[in-house]
Amino acid sequence: MNWIRATLGGAPRQPDSTSIDPAAAKAIAANLPVFSRLDADRQTRLLSSAGRFMRTKEFVGRDGMQVTDEMRAVVSAAACMLLLGMPDDSGYRRVSTVAIHRGSFSEAVETYGPEGERYVVHNWAAGKAWSLGFVELAWDSVLYSINPRQRGFNVIYHEFAHALDAADGDMGGMPPLPSWSRERAWRETMQRSFDRLANETSIGRRTPLSAYGATSLVEFFPVATEAFFERPTPLAGWDAGLFEILREYYGQDPREYE
Ligand SMILES: [Zn+2]
Repeated sequence: MNWIRATLGGAPRQPDSTSIDPAAAKAIAANLPVFSRLDADRQTRLLSSAGRFMRTKEFVGRDGMQVTDEMRAVVSAAACMLLLGMPDDSGYRRVSTVAIHRGSFSEAVETYGPEGERYVVHNWAAGKAWSLGFVELAWDSVLYSINPRQRGFNVIYHEFAHALDAADGDMGGMPPLPSWSRERAWRETMQRSFDRLANETSIGRRTPLSAYGATSLVEFFPVATEAFFERPTPLAGWDAGLFEILREYYGQDPREYE
């Protein structure tokens, strides 16, 4: 009977794209602080988007880490917060795998000394996004990110902003935008705001953004994304132009559920 219906209907029926496992929905509601601040419509859309993410991305554990369904649910929902105001989830189309480490992980980076000698330094990272479709997260940093007692740091938002940036295969600090004029506005605003962050952090002034955003324009967008979702009112007060560019890009205003 199903076969006949599928044949008559053309394509076989796909699993319901709006479904999410009830246990996963429960884990998200219990562990993601922002969830309770969303209205019912946004909660429904976030759960459905997280469900789709969980079904289509592979999760792997590193350092002997066992990735549970609850962990997958929480990471998926936090990642999908960034998509909540977008027309679809194509921003993550290149993301294939999410790797979860136990804690900060080291990556070896080759570098060259003044005499041209080659050596390797180890950078410790809480997360990393690769333009080839890998996102790596340290679980202790994920737990800190979703701890309701702190606002401002969020490794999931940070790494998935890198993934959005790399949606066109190029991670340069600007995600794919619909028009040349939007790209120009993005470049001008980000550069101006980046210069301001670099200036203010160099004289020790505190801003709503982490000083890490002043390391490069590639890091500025993810750091600004963390502030946009975690501390939207202070960010809008610090730089209204930057806030507006991000509000337009993300299609949502997190002040509504701050
Ligand atoms: Zn980064």
